[in-house]
Amino acid sequence: MIISVVIPLYNEEQNIKILHQALTETLSNIEHDYEIIYIDDGSTDETLNILEEIQSKDNKVMVLSLRRNFGQTAAFAAGFDFARGDIVITMDGDMQNDPKDIPKFIEAIKGYDIVSGWRKDRKDPFLTRRLPSMIANWLISKVTGVKLHDYGCSLKAYRRDVVKNLKLYGEMHRFIPAVASWYGVRIKEVETIHHPRLHGKSKYGISRTIKVLLDLITVKFLQSFSTKPIQFFGPLGVVFSLTGLFISAYLTVEKFIKNIPIGGRPLLLLGVLLIIVGVQIIGMGLLGEMIVRVYHESQKKPIYTIKKILSSI
Ligand code: UDP
Ligand code: MG
Repeated sequence: MIISVVIPLYNEEQNIKILHQALTETLSNIEHDYEIIYIDDGSTDETLNILEEIQSKDNKVMVLSLRRNFGQTAAFAAGFDFARGDIVITMDGDMQNDPKDIPKFIEAIKGYDIVSGWRKDRKDPFLTRRLPSMIANWLISKVTGVKLHDYGCSLKAYRRDVVKNLKLYGEMHRFIPAVASWYGVRIKEVETIHHPRLHGKSKYGISRTIKVLLDLITVKFLQSFSTKPIQFFGPLGVVFSLTGLFISAYLTVEKFIKNIPIGGRPLLLLGVLLIIVGVQIIGMGLLGEMIVRVYHESQKKPIYTIKKILSSI
């Protein structure tokens, strides 16, 4: 079995050497073969030079250097594309995750497809990090139905086929367990050690919360309606249109039967607006249906995933 460790690095010049040493110490003591993939995410400091130096001395190391800063999710995606291992482990490159946890993850993944870390004793500021994260974890668990204590922990282990089949966008790497659960994977959670950041600065601020929230809406929508958008937009559009039609019918009666002028009534505007918006929402659902067909049929992507085929033919 080969273990691939995938680590994105963005301006982590002070951490790399310590990280590499700690990693090598742990990995050389496990019974499996391993590779370490460092992804330089367009760093502007000495990160790439230090990585080049490490790579030239250690043949277990692969370095991918991205042309510019594409973000952590893209860096992970690059690492997944190049990983050759049967098990792929991801972690942060700032030494906040501890390489010593890796054997625990390799052990835990037996019988599972994903092992997700839980920074139970997290060493980050409360107000800007732990509190938003607590709310986010609760919300993501509720919305996606995949209950994890710590979605944001980068230290995770995946079986090869999980990461090879994933397409990642936005800030989506934290949603991998939720996204993968659509394919029916088995997920386990293990507690991990967490350290405060000793060198360099965190690359994120509180604004990340909004991005994560938007990604959550996307994930939820795709999870529930990606193969049937009309069932999401349809009912909404029908309710809007019917309400509009009802209002308009009422106003028509007022005008032609009771002879009351309706030109200056706000209700008229509302009725017309609801009809137009309703029809457009239904139209959006139908467009969605066409996009779904283009997506699945042009790429011959099935709308199901098979675990096993039993047949004697
Ligand atoms: N990172 C990256 N590209 C980015 C931002 C971050 O590759 O655009 C890397 C960063 O170098 C680190 C990891 O992602 O290895 C986690 O980043 P950080 O420690 O800043 O996040 P935090 O722990 O504060 O959530
Ligand atoms: Mg960090």
